[in-house]
Amino acid sequence: MIGGMKTTRRRLIQAGALAPAAASAAKSTEMSAATPSSLYSSLGIRPVINGVGVVTVLGGSIMPPEVVRAMEEASRYFIPLPDLQRKVGSRIAELLKAPACMVTCGAASAIAVGASACLSQGDAKKLRQLPGRDGIKYEVIQQKTHRSGYEHQMESCGAKIVTVETRQELEAAINERTGMLFFLNKADGHGQIKREEFVKIGKARGIPTMNDAASDATPVENLWKYTELGFDLVIFSGGKALRGPQASGLLLGRKDLIEAALPAMSPYGGIGRGMKVGKEEMCGLLAAVERYVKVDHKAEWRDIEARVETIRRGLKDVAGVETGRHIPEVANELPHATVEWDEGAKKLTAQQVAEKLQAGDPPIHVQRPGAGKLLISVWMMRGGEPGIVAKRLREILA
Ligand SMILES: *Cc1c(COP(=O)(O)O)cnc(C)c1O
Repeated sequence: MIGGMKTTRRRLIQAGALAPAAASAAKSTEMSAATPSSLYSSLGIRPVINGVGVVTVLGGSIMPPEVVRAMEEASRYFIPLPDLQRKVGSRIAELLKAPACMVTCGAASAIAVGASACLSQGDAKKLRQLPGRDGIKYEVIQQKTHRSGYEHQMESCGAKIVTVETRQELEAAINERTGMLFFLNKADGHGQIKREEFVKIGKARGIPTMNDAASDATPVENLWKYTELGFDLVIFSGGKALRGPQASGLLLGRKDLIEAALPAMSPYGGIGRGMKVGKEEMCGLLAAVERYVKVDHKAEWRDIEARVETIRRGLKDVAGVETGRHIPEVANELPHATVEWDEGAKKLTAQQVAEKLQAGDPPIHVQRPGAGKLLISVWMMRGGEPGIVAKRLREILA
């Protein structure tokens, strides 16, 4: 993929077709943490090798050149923002086979405005009243194992979270105050009520269902799978797998609910005025979705496999160290490298190894899922970074 990008860039430069901003954007995807950045160094910030994946705390993902180009072009004009939101929304909805869509400023923001839409049911007066609960269907039901850490996004709109475990409990918990049923997509395997059954209950009882699939846009079919399954609202992060702008997200789903959610967010006053989406994010996310639905995912997958292999090969003959390949069942469903050792025998804990990796230059961030175990996502690594990670791990673990 990177090779292909280089060719395209060279071809474009030869044709004189690449604006300076776009040229530097093309370059940015080839950069690695080892490439000096005068901007970040002037701020005293050292770029890191991202072995964690698409996480907000490390900056999410790197936008491909076409996304940066779209943002750059969008930034040069004034436009009626609500019209742009609608046009971009309908284009994305079409691409992702959803009835309707809007761009939010992140998946968390989509949870908030989506919940506001369900609680206010398209009633402008009720929407203005949030987070007030008088006359509002303010109860949101979710399974115990589906706690996402994003409950505040619903609670700040006035929701009261009601927790259940079984189907019987869910059926019994639904009453005239119930406004929404929340589902955490990646928790499907942990809860007693699975997606299909959850959707069915929502439909039978006339309560909208929301599926937070923020980090689950791999494989690509997931982008339409859950709306097709019948969830009334489905959420994805724009800045994760889609590699759109960091501060963007997707709220997909039922037309009437998207209509109800639009006035819940900036530029309109009220509950979501603090969740601003700029013209740059709207156009950037559209470009990211357009790229994502047509990019060669098989080639990207092979690239990721090769990076995993680079790390495993680099640690092959280190005594007492086992490496593996792991694909999470849902959320970031791509090959990762695992590194395992006996903490007692090595006299090194996973935490100590992770700290040593972070203390190096460039700093390397990885996950440590347990004692003597590292989980390394190679997805967001670029250039020679997998080789650097392997070399440093070898030095630490040998
Ligand atoms: C990342 C994530 C979010 C938040 O996404 P943002 O785009 O950063 O707002 C919400 N829910 C889940 C399950 C996530 O993984």
